[in-house]
Amino acid sequence: MKVGVLCIGDELLKGAVINTNLAYMGQRLLEIGIMPELCLEVPDEPHDVVQALEYALQHADFIITSGGLGPTADDLTKQSIADYLHMPLELDPAAEKAVRDRWNSLKRGALPLNFLNQAYIPHGAKALLNSFGSAPGIYITTPASKRIVMLPGPPSELHPMFDNQLLPILKEQLDTRIYTRLFHISGVPESRVEERTIPIIQANPGLSVAYCAAPEFVKLFLKTTDPDCLAKAEKMVRAEFAPELLHDSSHTVAEEVILLLKERSAALALAESCTGGLIAKLMTDVPGSSEVFFGGVVSYANSAKQHLLGVSAGTLEKHGAVSAECAAEMLQGAAEQFGVPCAISVTGIAGPDGGTPEKPVGLVYIGVKCFDQVLVKEYRFRGSRAQVRERTAAVSLNTLRRMLLGEHLS
Ligand code: ATP
Repeated sequence: MKVGVLCIGDELLKGAVINTNLAYMGQRLLEIGIMPELCLEVPDEPHDVVQALEYALQHADFIITSGGLGPTADDLTKQSIADYLHMPLELDPAAEKAVRDRWNSLKRGALPLNFLNQAYIPHGAKALLNSFGSAPGIYITTPASKRIVMLPGPPSELHPMFDNQLLPILKEQLDTRIYTRLFHISGVPESRVEERTIPIIQANPGLSVAYCAAPEFVKLFLKTTDPDCLAKAEKMVRAEFAPELLHDSSHTVAEEVILLLKERSAALALAESCTGGLIAKLMTDVPGSSEVFFGGVVSYANSAKQHLLGVSAGTLEKHGAVSAECAAEMLQGAAEQFGVPCAISVTGIAGPDGGTPEKPVGLVYIGVKCFDQVLVKEYRFRGSRAQVRERTAAVSLNTLRRMLLGEHLS
């Protein structure tokens, strides 16, 4: 089955909104083994919507649209597609009830006509009820047996409708059942993951493999139509990447660290300089992190390093704030201040300014303490300020993850 995606909205073409719906849909589709044939970004113009739809129908059997289903004058997706397919709009009783209930819950007086317009559905189509907004989604089967599913634009409405209503439809339409598995491999460069996966691919004909590198891990995606092949390949991946694989339930290294800290009944504190609180953010992004993450100090100025973490004036004078000695004292200070067995400290030059020949941009010292094991290491990261900070956060969390697993690092 060939899938095409149309993302509709002037704001997407103007760059005012980042097309996260496409990213979301692409990832979710990949999980069931579908790679879209095409994606078009289309303005809120009936002519453009129809032209894009015609093109998509020539190249795909299943078209998904996002956006332009709401009550405002620029929401023209439904009308344009209904006109093109000669399907008159008619009031759908279930959609009408949902739209009226939604309006009443907003307590804004009498129901305006344009709001009720959302309950009009092309004749013969199916309304997909929207539990998180007012515009229903729409599912059409065309006379040529092509499928079109229109989804609302706001991600908070699109995501649940995609997962709960569209995915089951797509799975039903798949010609052959596809078996997939996603792994998160931390601390190994993409090229090495690829190299180490070659024997697994060779041993499993029919297995298709995809890689995607992110700052904190590489995603390894397996896909096949044979469940036995998937089981065998999965076993081989688990054996090959045992120390580097995150638990299936973890989608970030911070989640994994929290899981391991809980297993060891340990807690973590941070002393951050160049990351400015990024590691704390990654930790607190995870619900339930308060059980094991006690807090951190963003010690940007030297005075903060001295007064809040106990870094000595002598160390700062002799070695500077970006030094292994300073990272070690920050680490000790964080662990003592918060009374915890695990700590991370980072100090470095994120750039773009502030580098010198001896201490260039990208020079970072990361300290990690895990019970009795203490490691302070120098790194030279490349890239923009944001990339240096992301890499620093990723490497420090991954170092702690490995120590929590019992590895002795040097
Ligand atoms: P409503 O009018 O009820 O908000 P709608 O289906 O008409 O729903 P749009 O008006 O097209 O949706 O978009 C509403 C908002 O949803 C946009 O302003 C934007 O913030 C967000 N949005 C739309 N499309 C996308 C997209 N492709 N990726 C991310 N966000 C999007």
